[in-house]
Amino acid sequence: MPPTYAVYALMVGMAENWMRSGIMPCIRSDAGREEPVPYIIWCLDGPDGAVVVDTGYHPDYVSAAWAQGKNFREPPGLLAEIGVKVDEVRTVIVTHFHLDHFTGFDFFPRATFVIQRAEYEFWTGPLMRYPYFNNQIQPKVRPALERLVQAGRVRLVEGDTELLPGLGVVRVGGHTPGSQMVSAATPLGTAVICGDVAYTYRNLHERLPVGWYYNLADCVVALERAISTATQPDLAFPNHDLSLLQGKRVVRVV
Ligand SMILES: [Zn+2]
Repeated sequence: MPPTYAVYALMVGMAENWMRSGIMPCIRSDAGREEPVPYIIWCLDGPDGAVVVDTGYHPDYVSAAWAQGKNFREPPGLLAEIGVKVDEVRTVIVTHFHLDHFTGFDFFPRATFVIQRAEYEFWTGPLMRYPYFNNQIQPKVRPALERLVQAGRVRLVEGDTELLPGLGVVRVGGHTPGSQMVSAATPLGTAVICGDVAYTYRNLHERLPVGWYYNLADCVVALERAISTATQPDLAFPNHDLSLLQGKRVVRVV
């Protein structure tokens, strides 16, 4: 039996008005509606310490306009609520490079960041000459990322990879070229943290792709992969669904 992990969701901030058209563009009746959306990071607490999934965002690496009104709390304080010290976190898995998932890297001073090579190469590669892509990252982020690489604190993986017994990443792409999910053994079976392959439970349960994607077909396939990897459907967790927080900022979901 592999070791098992407790799974915690921690809300670093909240946007009040995501357009539903971005969450599920194929549902036309939702196109003009807005809804509150939490920004969530995850902690997998296992026998050899805590592994964190995504960093949240850092006010220094996002625009002031974007950060405004989000009721931000720094990840170290949230993790302390479940007894995790960020100085002791050695592994942070980054589902993808969008600002609310990766720009909080400075909050984890001793961690190595596990990233798909395809994701790293996309955000540092030739397509960045197009403003549409390049503008999704603040100018300070890429030099900071390169410093992490030079310091040996970025581990690039290619495809599905087991990181520790009972804990691995599943490359799915779709939302971004190197988006990855995380699978973790829990007392209830295998849980899957989907990253932005699924924003909400509805994306997962109705296999509806999110409205922000690099490859739509891969997004649809990724939803199937999330459900089939999880031992049961309710062990697949979307990354921006308010209901999973049960009204709290920090909650154990498994
Ligand atoms: Zn994203």
